[in-house]
Amino acid sequence: MSEEEDMQPSEIAREVLRQLALRRIAPTPDNYLMLYSEISGTKVEEAFPQKALKQLTSNLPNGTTEQVKYARMIDAAINAGTWDAFRDALKEIFERGGRDPLPWSGMLKDLFTQLETHTSGFTQAKKRESLDHVLRASAAPDILFQRLQNVVRHWARGAPLPDAGMIETLDSEASETTPATTSAEAVPNAPTVDKVGSTELRELIAKVLEDPVHALLNGSPELAEQSLTLAKAVRQARQEKQINDILAQLKQFSYKVSYVAEDQTELRAELLGILKLLIDNIGEIVVEDQWLHGQINTVSELLSKPLDLRALDSVERMLKDVIYKQSGLKKNLQDANNKLKQMLATFVDRLGDFSSTTSEYHDKIEACAVRISSARDISELSSVLEEVMQETRAVQLNAARSHDEISEMRQRVNEAEREVKRLQVELSHASEMVRIDPLTGALNRKGLEEAMEREVARTRRHESPLSFAMLDIDNFKQINDTLGHTAGDSALQHLAEITRETIRPQDTLVRYGGEEFVILLPETVMEDAIKVMERVQRELTRRYFLHDNNKLLITFSAGVAELANEEDPTEAIRRADQAMYLAKRAGKNRVMAA
Ligand code: GH3
Ligand code: MG
Ligand code: MG
Repeated sequence: MSEEEDMQPSEIAREVLRQLALRRIAPTPDNYLMLYSEISGTKVEEAFPQKALKQLTSNLPNGTTEQVKYARMIDAAINAGTWDAFRDALKEIFERGGRDPLPWSGMLKDLFTQLETHTSGFTQAKKRESLDHVLRASAAPDILFQRLQNVVRHWARGAPLPDAGMIETLDSEASETTPATTSAEAVPNAPTVDKVGSTELRELIAKVLEDPVHALLNGSPELAEQSLTLAKAVRQARQEKQINDILAQLKQFSYKVSYVAEDQTELRAELLGILKLLIDNIGEIVVEDQWLHGQINTVSELLSKPLDLRALDSVERMLKDVIYKQSGLKKNLQDANNKLKQMLATFVDRLGDFSSTTSEYHDKIEACAVRISSARDISELSSVLEEVMQETRAVQLNAARSHDEISEMRQRVNEAEREVKRLQVELSHASEMVRIDPLTGALNRKGLEEAMEREVARTRRHESPLSFAMLDIDNFKQINDTLGHTAGDSALQHLAEITRETIRPQDTLVRYGGEEFVILLPETVMEDAIKVMERVQRELTRRYFLHDNNKLLITFSAGVAELANEEDPTEAIRRADQAMYLAKRAGKNRVMAA
């Protein structure tokens, strides 16, 4: 510090400029002074910012008499140039702040007095015109008040109002005195009554009482009624005594109206307080709903500002929204509760019935769980729950359906399997029936085809020999004829039996016609086939057929053919048949090679 104190003023000035540049501070006189005191270590008395404050307060609202009054107080305090004066002015303004009721009574009294007073400068007709104009152009009570007050002041001063822009002139004109002081006593001219003008003025006063004053008193029916009665009386007043009576009544009426205005101001403040409390309380109760909080904040904010009709309208609309939302919430809550109850009951009921779940269901339920955890209101939650229910129902139905379907399918498969087996058995029997000759048990012609196909294929595959033998019982007709048809059948059965037992298992006996048989002899060449047939002959001789204890000898004639390469098997059978025929021709009971 001592070093700084030793600095010369020129050095301090240089340092100040350097610091201004370094700190990028605007080089204003104030900033210069601030840095100068900092560098020099001297204390600078901070000047009262008269200019800045004047600028700051230059645009304060001046729509009402009070506002004009407050603006003047502020102005006076700034002109005084001390913080103390400024603080006192602010304090007074806040203490009075908006609680002063408009002094209608004084103003109306002055107005009536001025209406009946002859004023140099303008006629009664001019006064009437001015008043009419103000009444038509002023809707808000405080503006009407201020304009009427200004009109009265102009009349009292004897200064005529300009025709054009009269309202603007009235609005911008600041009141210099309180309305009460602008009384008839202050007017130097003695009151005289203008007969023509007074009629028009009476009509105007009556109108003021009937319309704006009556409207303002809608909360006090008695006074409102009185304003109408007074209006009627004003219209009828002709004599000076009557006028004086009315003036006295109006005076009393004005006092009452001023009390009502005072009450209304207080009432309004109280109501706003209650409303704010209510809004805050709703905000506390309904903690879950974000949307509602937003609305309440907006309403609170609107209420914290000075009220006008537009703002009140907004408050009303928003409150309606809040009430609507609340009723919706309540319904949603009830619905959600009911749904939850139903769901729980359904879950418990159906849980045991779950036979399977799908991965899709799991995914959906997981997504639903996420949505439930992030759900911000009940309606959102209930929609998720609804989805869970639907999914669960769907899966359950699917599972139940699948289960039923599978059971049914299994049953049908079982039935089908049984049917297939039954059919297979049936088919097998049918097939056997078709291929086998029921009398002898040998294959029939159909059986021959199948057996021939199979054996020929195998023969060709193995390049092995295959022989066919055709045999025909000799003189069979004679057996039938002498012993009967049944004996003939038995003879056929006997021959088949002996033949089957004589040939090898791989050989096949086929009943080709009535008493004709074909024998398939795989891997058998011609000579061997002939030998087989001769062996069968011998066996038949050895094991004779017994009928009624009569021994009967059955013989046959046979032809044998070996399947040639690429020969059609039916051709080979034809050749064997041919050889058999030859054997017949040769004397029967013999085997011939084809
Ligand atoms: P051949 O020695 O020339 O063969 O004389 P055959 O009598 O055996 O020949 P034929 O063709 O003249 O007679 C065949 C008889 O066989 C005629 C028919 O009544 C009889 N027959 C055919 N099928 C059966 C059958 O299934 N049962 C019985 N009992 N007789 C049959
Ligand atoms: Mg025959
Ligand atoms: Mg025969």
